[in-house]
Amino acid sequence: MQTPAPVEYAKASSIAEAISLLEQNGDESRVIAGGYSLLPMMKLRLARPDMLVDINGIAELSGIRIEGNEIVVGALTRHSEILSSAILFEHYPLFRQAEHVIADPIVRVRGTIGGSMCQADPAADLSAIGSALRGTAVIANSGGTRTVPMREFHTGPYDTVVAAGEILTEVRFPIRPGAGSAYEKVERRAGDWAVASAGVFVVVSGGIVTDAGIGLTAVGADHYCSPEGEAALIGKAPTEDNLAAAAKAASDSSNPYADQRGPVDYKRHLASELTLRALRRAVNASQGA
Ligand SMILES: Cc1cc2nc3c(=O)[nH]c(=O)nc-3n(C[C@H](O)[C@H](O)[C@H](O)COP(=O)(O)OP(=O)(O)OC[C@H]3O[C@@H](n4cnc5c(N)ncnc54)[C@H](O)[C@@H]3O)c2cc1C
Repeated sequence: MQTPAPVEYAKASSIAEAISLLEQNGDESRVIAGGYSLLPMMKLRLARPDMLVDINGIAELSGIRIEGNEIVVGALTRHSEILSSAILFEHYPLFRQAEHVIADPIVRVRGTIGGSMCQADPAADLSAIGSALRGTAVIANSGGTRTVPMREFHTGPYDTVVAAGEILTEVRFPIRPGAGSAYEKVERRAGDWAVASAGVFVVVSGGIVTDAGIGLTAVGADHYCSPEGEAALIGKAPTEDNLAAAAKAASDSSNPYADQRGPVDYKRHLASELTLRALRRAVNASQGA
C-alpha cells in the first residue's frame, strides 16, 4: 500500500495552538515535522492518524543556543543544522561525526531531532547521543512543561513518554568542560541505518576518568545506553585495558537481535569494538583539552 489514508491537516503557528489542535482531535492526531519517518509509516498504513498538526511554522521550536551550562536544541532543528552547528561542534564533536553518517543530505535538510527522538527507532543515532550525554527532554502540554531525562524518554521500540496532546519542544545537553566525545558507526552502505553504533563522552582529570557516558544504537541497549560500561570506567585510569573492559561491559549489557543487518554475535562484537574505538578517541580529545 503506497498511498496514505485520507487525513485532516492543520498548520500551527505557536506551541499553544499546536497543543490545542492535538487536544481537540484526540489520540488519533499526530505532530508532523519533517515527515521522513511518519509519512512512510502512513503509506504503509503502520500509522493511520486522523489529523496531522504541522509544527514547521513554529519558529521557537528551531535553533541551537547556550543557556547557562546547557546547550539547548529545539525539537524542530534539522539534522543539517546539527551537522553544521559551531556550538555543538565545540562542545560535543560527536554530533557532527554522527550527522555525517545519518541518512543523506536530502533527509538531513528536512528531518528533525524531535522527529528522530519521538520516532524512537531502535537504530536511531541521535537517541543514542541523547542518552550518552544524559540530555533532558522538555515536553509541553496544556498545563505547562515537564522535563524528562533522555534515559527515561524512550519506553521501548517506537514508543516514548510523549503523551497524546503533548509536544517535545527541546532537548538540553549539559556542558562538561574538558569532555572529549566521539561517534563510531558501522553501516552496510553510505546513508544506511546502523548495523551498530556507539557514541561516548569522557572527562579525564588528573589521570582519572571522572565522568563518562556510553550510548549505543541498533544493539538492543535499554534506553540506548550502558550504565554498566560507564560504571566500569569512571574512577579508573583511561588505560587500554580499562577502556577495553568498559567496552566489553557495554557490549555485554546490550541485547541485539538477528536481522538482515547481521547475526547477534556480529552485532555484539561491533558494540564492543565501536565502543572501544570511540572511547579511545574521546579520551585523547579530553586529555588534549
Ligand atoms: C532514507 C532514510 C535514511 C535514514 N537513515 C537514518 C540513519 O542512518 N540514522 C538515523 O538515526 N535516522 C535515519 N533516518 C531517520 C531520520 O533521522 C528520521 O526520519 C527523521 O529525523 C525524523 O524526523 P522528522 O522531522 O522527519 O519526523 P516526522 O516523520 O515528522 O515525525 C516522526 C514521529 O515523531 C513525531 N514527532 C515529530 N516531532 C515531534 C515533536 N516535536 N513532538 C512530538 N512528536 C513529534 C511524529 O508525530 C511522528 O510520530 C533515515 C530516514 C530516511 C528516510
